[in-house]
Amino acid sequence: MAKQKTLKILSRPQGNAEEYGRWSVNPYKGCSHGCLYCYLKKGVWANGLGGDTAQLKTGVVSDEHAYHLAMAEIIENKEQIIKDGGLFMTFTSDPCAPETRLLFFHIASNAIEHGIPVTMLTKNADFFQYPTMMAMIEDTKHLMSLSDKGERIVLNGSAFCTWFGDMHQHLVKPLVAFGWTLTGCDELEPNASPNEERIATMKRMSDEGYLTWASIEPVIDFDASRKMIIAALEAGCRHFKIGLLTNNTHVVRKPFCFGEHHFEAFDRDEAEWFVGVVMALTEGRATVYWKQSFYEFLEQREQSGTRSGSAESRQKSSEAQFFGDEPIHGMTVHEFLHQWPHSVDKDWSMFI
Ligand code: SF4
Repeated sequence: MAKQKTLKILSRPQGNAEEYGRWSVNPYKGCSHGCLYCYLKKGVWANGLGGDTAQLKTGVVSDEHAYHLAMAEIIENKEQIIKDGGLFMTFTSDPCAPETRLLFFHIASNAIEHGIPVTMLTKNADFFQYPTMMAMIEDTKHLMSLSDKGERIVLNGSAFCTWFGDMHQHLVKPLVAFGWTLTGCDELEPNASPNEERIATMKRMSDEGYLTWASIEPVIDFDASRKMIIAALEAGCRHFKIGLLTNNTHVVRKPFCFGEHHFEAFDRDEAEWFVGVVMALTEGRATVYWKQSFYEFLEQREQSGTRSGSAESRQKSSEAQFFGDEPIHGMTVHEFLHQWPHSVDKDWSMFI
């Protein structure tokens, strides 16, 4: 008899995805935002993951089932998850979409109660407040049905707070980071909240004392991304993760188009200009993690001529070439570029 595959909600991403986190929570597959560049719609997994709506993973029969599966895995791996920088939500959908957020916030609340950091990444701007009091009550009933300690879920005055049940904000805030993907290209993300609204919600949450960050990936147009970074800094953004458009594994090196929208190939001089501008803009205000896609692209001259030494030494020399040898934010260049959440050497609190 064939051995039955264990149903898992957590995964340990690799490659480009690992640069966001070492443990991801993926109860859903598919997403309704309809981004024209969506990575779920590419490659061998497209049929399984690239749906236009969020559906529970095959074999998961209900939100409650997903919640209990996820929590069992989280508790079992708690120590390692904390050591690795916490949980990332999510790679296979949007964790703050109306159809997914109840489950994600419920898992997040319980993970936080266990002292586990949680990082969210979304293109939704509408979850800061419940749209109506009735919706809040209905959602709270749903949360109660999910919880094995349902009496703990109460309305406590702040609409946003109810996403985390009745947990005190001083417990939640140090352990959750809310991130928004900002491309500046609304036309490529037809069903997501406009970039401007994402930044407005980022500001409200920063003002409330939540840790906020931005994924500037994919960079499609350098100037559009630069404008997003300026706006996000004004909105209190504390961390940026920046990566170029890839075709899943490698940077796109030719002119590209999405639907009717055509874009020129990335230009190396413009990429260098962009890096310099971002470093100047963020100095002393926010931390930046440059994804491997940037290194891959910026190393192209070296690749065409004199590659030598190990991959690690090539990367270090490439970093020094673009960022200088001076310490940044009190860290060496290498530490600066490999900080939270990718590095396991750093305490999560250094980012707060
Ligand atoms: S938000 Fe992410 S998962 Fe959803 S369609 Fe866009 S790229 Fe795909």
